[in-house]
Amino acid sequence: MNIHEYQGKELLAKYGVGIPAGIAALTVEEAVAAAKQLPGPLYVVKAQIHAGGRGKGKFKELPADAKGGVRLAKSIEEVEAFAKEMLGNTLVTIQTGEAGKQVNRLYVTDGVDIDKEYYLSMLVDRKTGRVAMIVSTEGGMDIEEVAHNTPEKIATITIDPAEGFQAHHGRAVAFALKLSGDLNKQAQKLAKQLYTAFIAMDCDMVEINPLVQSKGGELLVLDTKMSFDSNALARHPDIFALRDETEEDPAEIEASKYDLAYIKLDGDIGCMVNGAGLAMATMDIIKLNGMFPANFLDVGGGANKEKVTAAFKIILADPAVKGILVNIFGGIMKCDIIAEGIVAAAKEVNLSVPLVVRLEGTNVQQGKDILANSGLAIVPANDLGDAAKKIVAEVQAVA
Ligand code: ADP
Ligand code: MG
Repeated sequence: MNIHEYQGKELLAKYGVGIPAGIAALTVEEAVAAAKQLPGPLYVVKAQIHAGGRGKGKFKELPADAKGGVRLAKSIEEVEAFAKEMLGNTLVTIQTGEAGKQVNRLYVTDGVDIDKEYYLSMLVDRKTGRVAMIVSTEGGMDIEEVAHNTPEKIATITIDPAEGFQAHHGRAVAFALKLSGDLNKQAQKLAKQLYTAFIAMDCDMVEINPLVQSKGGELLVLDTKMSFDSNALARHPDIFALRDETEEDPAEIEASKYDLAYIKLDGDIGCMVNGAGLAMATMDIIKLNGMFPANFLDVGGGANKEKVTAAFKIILADPAVKGILVNIFGGIMKCDIIAEGIVAAAKEVNLSVPLVVRLEGTNVQQGKDILANSGLAIVPANDLGDAAKKIVAEVQAVA
């Protein structure tokens, strides 16, 4: 689960991390009121969307030469003008895709006099099984480009979870950032605070870009991106409450209500499969046959009629879907029960695209009979290869 910049900053502030003052706003009036509470004379008005690259982003509704989603305001009047320009409009950044994201929230924050920008992020490194802290002196700009062109400017410090954060980790971070004197001490302290926060909140990823050194000699967090391990959210109701559903794909929200693992993809073939491994194999074999999956969808081991119906509805709501491939192994749930679910669901949703079903497992023959006698144009398949060939042929025949 992702959260907004201002929410991330509020969470990190509880761990002592240096954050410039700021207040979130949902309306122009709130933005003005927020600015009045800040010391000034410089304010930054920041669009709050779950995507980075806002500074260099463009608003669809504004002229091409207009500034992006991070604006420096020199007066309260400017804060008001920028808030009017941003709220309700669509910001397109390198991370939003062409459709962009509507800006519904702003963050009005202190303008910081910046001396230098750094990069610092943390993530769970699956290769080493440790939390990796990734730092660079080249913050503020596209870190992917730095990684590509000058990888030597990026340092990775990993922390063994059994050992925990040690003083030497902090020194390594400060050294990699080439800081000396008091700033070096601040960096060591910050690294420890961030690691503590990361573990305590079950984070997946924390990215601070930029981390800045202010003209006053302070290390401050100017931007945050945070995401949390969804499997751990049950023990963090306060963090779960920060979820902003307007930032999520409506189909993925619907899927989560039925406990379906659904991820939208770019292809034409909707997939309904039980088990993540089988889902991956199904996607692979569709590609092998020359088309692309429209989604990843794992209905889980206990797929019943309600889940299958919900899954059909979610797949069909995607206008890109030109055909559906159901590939289910009846293990815990018997094939005849699944077949009944598929037939009932297909009738309920008024299936309008070709449907190929491959069933295997317990009571497979009864299941196939139910599909054959349903009166629906369901194409049966015998194995994975057969199923993929058939759905591709069906879709291409319609096109
Ligand atoms: P994004 O990464 O989405 O573009 P950032 O919050 O990183 O958004 O802002 C982009 C740039 O704007 C930063 O690299 C920094 O130079 C400047 N900036 C952001 N917040 C402030 C602030 N509070 N004071 C001064 N400059 C800021
Ligand atoms: Mg940034």
